[in-house]
Amino acid sequence: MSETTAPMTAAQAVALPVTCGEPNCTNAPVSQYTWAWGEVGYVCAQHQFLISQRAKNLKRTVTFMSLGPAAPAPLTRDERTQLHAARLSAEDEMREAQGRTARLYDQNQVLAAELGKSVRQRDELQSELTRLNEALTLLTDRHDTALEELQTAKDEVVRLQTLVDALQGARVAPVGSEG
Ligand SMILES: [Zn+2]
Repeated sequence: MSETTAPMTAAQAVALPVTCGEPNCTNAPVSQYTWAWGEVGYVCAQHQFLISQRAKNLKRTVTFMSLGPAAPAPLTRDERTQLHAARLSAEDEMREAQGRTARLYDQNQVLAAELGKSVRQRDELQSELTRLNEALTLLTDRHDTALEELQTAKDEVVRLQTLVDALQGARVAPVGSEG
């Protein structure tokens, strides 16, 4: 009569029953048992105790195998080295990402400043354009006024010329009539 507990292999752990194999027991199984005659089952902790009592009473052998997670095997020297390298690599990547983030932040600050400058320049240009439009309106008004004045002056010139011609005609006529 003996009772041993050994960790399961991964292959054995694949198709575990969800409940204890004893009738009307819904507890989660904690071990697989094997009777000396080959019968195999899964039991909860309570039934493992009862089965082991039964084995004592029957003076037969039952072997229990724990279904708990296998203890992790200690790392080999190579695995430790790889883990260390992976950690260093991850730390490098993190530092690099932090550097990229800082650079992006700086670039963003520069772009924001440039955008602010562009907006101010646009506002200044808009003001200048408004001022030029007002000046153009003023000049156009003056131009119209000047044209009107020019036309008035031309009319005046024509009127005076007509008057001069009339006066000359009057003076010439007597001379002509004398001659
Ligand atoms: Zn049970």
